[in-house]
Amino acid sequence: MFTIICSNCKTKIYSGDEVRSPKQVLRLYKGKCKKCGADLDPEDFTLEVNELS
Ligand SMILES: [Zn+2]
Repeated sequence: MFTIICSNCKTKIYSGDEVRSPKQVLRLYKGKCKKCGADLDPEDFTLEVNELS
């Protein structure tokens, strides 16, 4: 599972099995967190990759 979390409000912005770059995901949301509306920089993102073993 691959997740991207807003560094401002900790909302999970993207979650899925497909690994995407933060830039790609940001483009889907026009560079803003869908919940808190914060402008997000790809470098501010918290990335979590949990690989199934
Ligand atoms: Zn947020």
